[in-house]
Amino acid sequence: MITLYDIDVESPRTLEEALQRINQTRRRVIAGGTDVVIQMKEGVLAERKLLNIYQLDELRYIRQDGESLRIGALTSLTDIAESREVRRFAPPLAQAAGTIGSIQVTNKGTIGGNLGNASPSGDCIPPLYALEGRVVVASLTGRREVPVRDFFRGYKQLNLRQNELITEINFKKMGDEEDGLFLKHTLRLGEACSVVSVCMWLRRGGRRAEFVDARIALGAVAPTVVRADRSEEILKHGILDERRIEDASQAVTGSISPITDVRGSAEYRREMAVNLTYRGLHEILARSIDRK
Ligand SMILES: Cc1cc2nc3c(=O)[nH]c(=O)nc-3n(C[C@H](O)[C@H](O)[C@H](O)COP(=O)(O)OP(=O)(O)OC[C@H]3O[C@@H](n4cnc5c(N)ncnc54)[C@H](O)[C@@H]3O)c2cc1C
Repeated sequence: MITLYDIDVESPRTLEEALQRINQTRRRVIAGGTDVVIQMKEGVLAERKLLNIYQLDELRYIRQDGESLRIGALTSLTDIAESREVRRFAPPLAQAAGTIGSIQVTNKGTIGGNLGNASPSGDCIPPLYALEGRVVVASLTGRREVPVRDFFRGYKQLNLRQNELITEINFKKMGDEEDGLFLKHTLRLGEACSVVSVCMWLRRGGRRAEFVDARIALGAVAPTVVRADRSEEILKHGILDERRIEDASQAVTGSISPITDVRGSAEYRREMAVNLTYRGLHEILARSIDRK
């Protein structure tokens, strides 16, 4: 069993200092630690040398910047769930952050850690796919911005070099003609990872129940979060009626490749992905009709 004496932690006070340390030493980054500590305890993570970045307050912010919303990597899931800006300009992300674990986990866990853990069931990730967000990463030599879709390369594989830190997540704010939501299915309420999650973003047209653009992202049903391209095509132009909702919901199965594990079989996940999409589209349709 590991004890605290086995762990060597460095805690830089500034981003600059953290980037220097990560450039010089091979240390596992730890932010809130809600994933890292569990993985160490369970023996999944062998590293005993940690770079604790939790004190870098400069990475803790939610800022409007013209058409964009920028969120620092160390912003807690609670701050995201409760933020007026996130609730107004990216409601699916606020919803997702609010479903993660218990209050202790949401208070301590960060959005950067949710991405850094690279799990296909990370709940902040589908909203960022649906909002076509970007991840900012920094190293001593500069910073680069990567579209979220290119940031996740495969199961637990990130487009992140050993000497880089995630510093920010940003995306275009949702406007009045856009609607979206996040739904997840878990085996119990609270403290449970998604068996399947879905996030949708749709842009309304001028007519009643008309939508002109759509993005659907699904979590926990493939090695990375995926966009349901075929469903999006079906939803893009036209009136959202029962037929279109059914077709788009069934079409998600063409984009996913679920596995069977302790939380459910591949077949169960396929069915749940269809059901959640169906339910979400009906909810958005109902809201659009109420507005007119
Ligand atoms: C009881 C419990 C329930 C949970 N339920 C959910 C759930 O419902 N949904 C869900 O999505 N997650 C859940 N989680 C997982 C976890 O809480 C979240 O993924 C959280 O967002 C992780 O953030 P953190 O800051 O604690 O990450 P950490 O544990 O500190 O780090 C996670 C990973 O990201 C890397 N990392 C962290 N920050 C950075 C950075 N800035 N740059 C580069 N790499 C970085 C670390 O090296 C590590 O590999 C749960 C965890 C627990 C313990």
